[in-house]
Amino acid sequence: MQLYNTIVFARCDRIAAAVVPARCLNRRNPIDPASSSAPSLAPVLPTARFLTTVVQLAQLPRERLPEVAFVGRSNAGKSSAINALCRRRRLAFASKMPGRTQALNCFALGPERLPDPVALIVDTPGYGFATAPLEIKRQWDHLAGRYLQIREALCAVVLVLDVRRGLTDLDRALLQWMRPDVPMLAILTKSDKLGRAQQRQALDTVEAALREARLPNPLSLLALSSTTGLGLEQARAWLEAVISEAVAAAVPARPEDSREQD
Ligand code: GDP
Repeated sequence: MQLYNTIVFARCDRIAAAVVPARCLNRRNPIDPASSSAPSLAPVLPTARFLTTVVQLAQLPRERLPEVAFVGRSNAGKSSAINALCRRRRLAFASKMPGRTQALNCFALGPERLPDPVALIVDTPGYGFATAPLEIKRQWDHLAGRYLQIREALCAVVLVLDVRRGLTDLDRALLQWMRPDVPMLAILTKSDKLGRAQQRQALDTVEAALREARLPNPLSLLALSSTTGLGLEQARAWLEAVISEAVAAAVPARPEDSREQD
């Protein structure tokens, strides 16, 4: 599995030895852990803890901290991916009820000994329930759609795609809302369900679809399995790098904050 990922990533435009985190789809991808100039924070993903749930944008925390949003169709494997990336069992969990309240779940990242988190993960409601009433779709657009469009604190988006479905029309519609400067990592979840050749084919198909969408955003693409761990390290490296960059850009680092003590 690991060998497969390495082969795939070697096609990346910015090859950085073995540390290339994902298949990069354009030259604007700055998320390269090997060449990141940001001071390296201790990994923040394992520090993830629930912060708040909001049903209106006005209820979100003040825009002081970089935010990474997870978006995807319902059942794509978003909750499992968040849990696996943060090494938690039930940090994020999805209700399977299409009529559930549409809400953004925020998770704090950063050493708990500090008074404030350093960044947030924002888990958006899954979209695309076949039976969801129009009202649910409107609510999604109003909350998560607007969040993607206007949230200044947004520093990265993780687009969660079921490897067997690839990029659907709903995902394409969502891409149109992305601000052009925000880097995106597309993860093809449940890749353990496919053999290597099929995984590669799925990556090729999604890569072609994303190129066709002609997004100006820095884009990366990765096969992932929350079950077997495939791709988790690369996804973590991508996320830690993007968060480090954003934290460094937001606050001039003080020496004592740049690395957690052992
Ligand atoms: P969400 O609705 O996008 O949050 O999706 P979930 O994380 O709840 O996952 C939906 C279903 O897919 C659940 O039954 C998970 O156990 C399963 N699932 C999620 N990720 C994986 C994966 O990487 N591999 C496999 N085999 N199943 C997965």
